[in-house]
Amino acid sequence: MREKPITRPCVRQLTPYTPGKPIEEVQREFGLTDVVKLASNENPLGPSPKAVEAICAAAAGVSLYPDNDCYQLRRALAAKLDFPPGQILLGHGSDELIHNIGLAFINPGDEVMMCTGPFSQYEFTAKLMEATPVYVPMVEFRYDTKEMARRLTPKTKVVFIGNPNNPTGTIVTRSELAELLEAITDGTILVMDEAYHEYASDRDYPDSLALVREGRRVIVLRTFSKIYGLAGLRMGYGVTTPELADALERVREPFNVSSVAQAAALASLDDGDQVSRTVALNAESKAFLYREFERLGLRYTPSQANFVWLDLGRECRPIFVELLKRGVIVRTGDIFGAPTHIRVTTGTREQNRRFVEALARVLHG
Ligand code: PMP
Repeated sequence: MREKPITRPCVRQLTPYTPGKPIEEVQREFGLTDVVKLASNENPLGPSPKAVEAICAAAAGVSLYPDNDCYQLRRALAAKLDFPPGQILLGHGSDELIHNIGLAFINPGDEVMMCTGPFSQYEFTAKLMEATPVYVPMVEFRYDTKEMARRLTPKTKVVFIGNPNNPTGTIVTRSELAELLEAITDGTILVMDEAYHEYASDRDYPDSLALVREGRRVIVLRTFSKIYGLAGLRMGYGVTTPELADALERVREPFNVSSVAQAAALASLDDGDQVSRTVALNAESKAFLYREFERLGLRYTPSQANFVWLDLGRECRPIFVELLKRGVIVRTGDIFGAPTHIRVTTGTREQNRRFVEALARVLHG
């Protein structure tokens, strides 16, 4: 028995990430063939056919390292977002970009602000960098920006806002953000995590890119995992000021974005149809789910994303297991500190119906 722990104390406090249950695992565990996964906010329509074509074409080239600079993709995103290429960030998932924000900016003892029950990567990064996570409780599952402003200190290095937020699907509005920004000083970086921004239709949804253009210390994060249906390739991107982009470039791993992911992302950007079809399906799915939840007497939080935060009014774990037995995977709220909630991703019409039927049977027999 060795006496001296060899692992960093902060690492001993981390818990490994628990993903949504994979389809194959549920098939094995419950002996099912037909399993629906509505647990990880993926795109039920799959990737764009143009992306699939690009992936096949890129396959023969994987003996070579990818373009370290992501030349074409970087330029395509720069043109689309109207920023110089040097201000575009690229990573294997926006998860990597969050991690890199930690490496580049967070010192031990800094404070990192997030909501209570945050998307796990914010908390993980803060703890890994030996910073102190500062959790600000939400009010009715919305960020309490006034309280966040009050809790800022000279030690606050990063503020993470998921907008729309995962798992609640709620947004911080333009005026709330403007008010918070008045309280945020130059010593704090505001990270606007917009993994689901394409789904947000609220007229008060803020234009965070404008803040970057104004030169505020803001980092906007987006992803190809959600609306573009490329979660399996791990491809995230972002936009920030030249100063912050320079720091993030210094901590970036070599060749962090695979050649296949670069090709697929570039092709996806060309397929506007895929995006509009997905947005339309998501709106229809949410309308269907809301109606059904009302019929079942369940409270839900109206969502600006592609998932819905649903209060079952009872412990979620047993219901989650019963849903699994019926071949439907959702996400439990307990991992976000909400033990009676589940988060369900919108699916195809058929998948939504499967979920609602299974839920009705589990709740009401
Ligand atoms: N931010 C939020 C709010 C998310 O929900 C997710 C995915 N679960 C991510 C970031 C990470 O996305 P990516 O696949 O680009 O790493």
